[in-house]
Amino acid sequence: MNNQNLLNRSLQSVWHPCTQMKQHESLPLIPIKSGEGIWLTDIEGNRYLDAVSSWWVNLFGHNNPRIKNAIKAQLDTLEHVILAGFTHEPVVELSEKLAKLTGLGHAFFASDGASATEIALKMSFHYWRNTGLSKKTKFISLQNSYHGETLGALSVTDVAIFKDTYAPLLQQSAQMPSPDFRLTEVGETSEQYALRCADALALYVAEHQAELAAFIIEPLVQCAAGMGMYHPVYLKRAREICTQYHIHLIADEIAVGFGRTGSMFACEQADIKPDFICLSKGITGGYLPLSAVLTTDEVYAAFYDDSTARGFLHSHSYTGNPLACSAALATLGIFEADHVIESNKQKSDYMMGKMLALIQLPIKHLRHKGMIFAFDVITQNKQFQQQFYAATLAQGLLLRPIGNTIYFMPPYIINEAEIDYLVDATVKILQGLA
Ligand SMILES: *Cc1c(COP(=O)(O)O)cnc(C)c1O
Repeated sequence: MNNQNLLNRSLQSVWHPCTQMKQHESLPLIPIKSGEGIWLTDIEGNRYLDAVSSWWVNLFGHNNPRIKNAIKAQLDTLEHVILAGFTHEPVVELSEKLAKLTGLGHAFFASDGASATEIALKMSFHYWRNTGLSKKTKFISLQNSYHGETLGALSVTDVAIFKDTYAPLLQQSAQMPSPDFRLTEVGETSEQYALRCADALALYVAEHQAELAAFIIEPLVQCAAGMGMYHPVYLKRAREICTQYHIHLIADEIAVGFGRTGSMFACEQADIKPDFICLSKGITGGYLPLSAVLTTDEVYAAFYDDSTARGFLHSHSYTGNPLACSAALATLGIFEADHVIESNKQKSDYMMGKMLALIQLPIKHLRHKGMIFAFDVITQNKQFQQQFYAATLAQGLLLRPIGNTIYFMPPYIINEAEIDYLVDATVKILQGLA
């Protein structure tokens, strides 16, 4: 196929996400033909190391035989069936497995992360209504939080570039101080700072508990905020505060779930159980769209009734899609068979060791949590983000800096030679741009 022709057709017909389309007058789209392991290949044969896991979804590489074969087998049996009034083996097995992993026994399915956020918010509100507390209609989240971009999810998101334009359409929600350690004051530890933020949360919640339904939070890492990491003590305190003042804690593990932060779920590192957990992204290993909200027996019981209206009357056409569930089951199978959480520890250490080479450059806050690695570049160059992005593509790397934050969030199958290549090339590019 002719390369230029495909690019023109894409620009004519495809409205690309998170993109000012006019920028493609100067920055060409990249037409990807195939993927293998950590590499993407374009139609001219150029290769790109997928250091962002294709937007944080791919865990075990492109063209992964185990996930692919699971989907193929499912495709020969049942591609899809309505989940209202019907059920099927893959969705049951996946729900049971997720219940075991999270300690939350009731799984509600959708296809995207933002839909999972919507479901958790609606369920929380409806729970309080069903239990006679219909004044609890408000939600709180953290400063710089990201929970998706549909209207409900955007209401609890706090990223100006995504939110400001749509503000007239959104429900009001309040944002609590972010425990992101980059905001600590001189002489303060990240733990002290996290506790100070938790105190502010407690004050707000104590005052507004009568109208608050839930606090939604990205556990341990605020990814879209530029991989803002924080001390787990904040989660511990948040759990205590939510319990004390009778509001739900919603853990949005859409980005951090499935091993990203070094444990299967980030909440485990604070030893807490949320009332709701939202999952998506890595759940199918990056193969098919799927999301899930898991919740407690207590929440489930509040909907269980003779009255239809007290039920959770929410649905999406592809809820519990068998192909997506089979991809998720294969993904969970890889975690078990390959002891992924364990082997990622060595990989994470190796990568962080390698990244120490960066400290000779004008950067700050070199940090990592499990398989998320980041640092912030010190520069006055307003074009840095675009220039860096273009330079990495020329070096065969797919990286998407967030402002001046450069992060690596590679598929877990990355090997040491690939880590060396990724870090060495990044150092070289930064030296060129400095
Ligand atoms: C990506 C993301 C979402 C939204 O998921 P989509 O599938 O893009 O709608 C929500 N919350 C967090 C923390 C995310 O990283």
